[in-house]
Amino acid sequence: AKQIVLAERPKGLPTAATFRFEDIETPALQDGEVLLDPLYISVDPYMRGRMNDAKSYAPPYPLDAPIVGGIVAKVLESKAADLTAGDTVVGYLPWKTKIAISATEVRKVDVNGIPPSYYLGVLGMPGLTAYFGLVDIGNPKPGETVVVSGAAGAVGIVVGQIAKIKGARVIGIAGSDDKVALLKEKYGYDEVINYKTTEDMKAAIAAAAPDGVDVYFDNVGGDITDAVVANLNFFARIALCGQIALYNNTKVETGPRILPTILTRKALIKGFIIGDYAPRFGEAMQALGSWVKEGKLQYTETIVDGFDQLPEAFLGLFSGQNQGKMLVKA
Ligand code: NDP
Repeated sequence: AKQIVLAERPKGLPTAATFRFEDIETPALQDGEVLLDPLYISVDPYMRGRMNDAKSYAPPYPLDAPIVGGIVAKVLESKAADLTAGDTVVGYLPWKTKIAISATEVRKVDVNGIPPSYYLGVLGMPGLTAYFGLVDIGNPKPGETVVVSGAAGAVGIVVGQIAKIKGARVIGIAGSDDKVALLKEKYGYDEVINYKTTEDMKAAIAAAAPDGVDVYFDNVGGDITDAVVANLNFFARIALCGQIALYNNTKVETGPRILPTILTRKALIKGFIIGDYAPRFGEAMQALGSWVKEGKLQYTETIVDGFDQLPEAFLGLFSGQNQGKMLVKA
């Protein structure tokens, strides 16, 4: 079997040298363990943070150890009481082509009518993030205007759809004309702005949101966020979910930025990390699951074929290679 380890801590954008492929032996199973065949391996922007040796909500990845992330896998062999060969499971698992691990590290999922990959996307961490950030922090009322950045990504696509379900007007910000078309045509966004081809983002948002912005779901930060904040209404809410535009920066930018406007518009800005909502995951999974089954919540995935493509798929997140959830089919 093979595994991919963190070879060095990247400075700025990771490169091929950040990762190292290794050949490994798969040990014989112990009692309570399962042998897993990974089906889909998730690459997520937060993994960039774990490559740094810095204090955060998740500990740094150790050097020379396999990268760990969300994986949906098939059970090949089981020495655990509650799992049998053929079951589909999900967990935070090492990047290996065969995984021998304690059954307590995985959760069996229902694949009856649900694509297994959805447990890494709309019915997984990104979907939960969209749900709680929007419903709990943004809390849009019918007729209000919601702006979402990173709108065509794993989280963003779910945010926009839930905002529509809640009766809001939805404006997306994304980085290509194909993404703009996807969000308008498949997902019914009211307006979508391509930030890469728009000179004056502040004016473009003002034009798309003539009544101002009530809720901003921020996935990216940087200049895009500056432009949205300039258009906030009084008592607007910002769900501060991600800052991908800044993850590879080697220097902290300074300047007046957004806080004076947050103050004078009397806005709420709340950073959140999805793990803290774990006690309420049941509520969210119920809502997301029934919207998916009713066809009210759709999804898009970019599936890259082959375990060896994992580093490239991960890097692709930082240049917008994905529509919806970026996954590797192992
Ligand atoms: P995405 O599927 O959205 O993938 C990343 C996307 O970000 C790219 O496709 C690209 O789209 C966009 N992007 C990349 N670089 C930039 C840039 N410099 N400026 C603007 N946009 C950029 O990822 P996710 O949906 O999984 O995650 C979205 C955000 O949410 C991330 O910031 C992530 O860290 C955060 N997150 C936070 C969680 C929490 O608990 N708080 C949990 C999960 C995710 P484009 O073509 O539009 O540029």
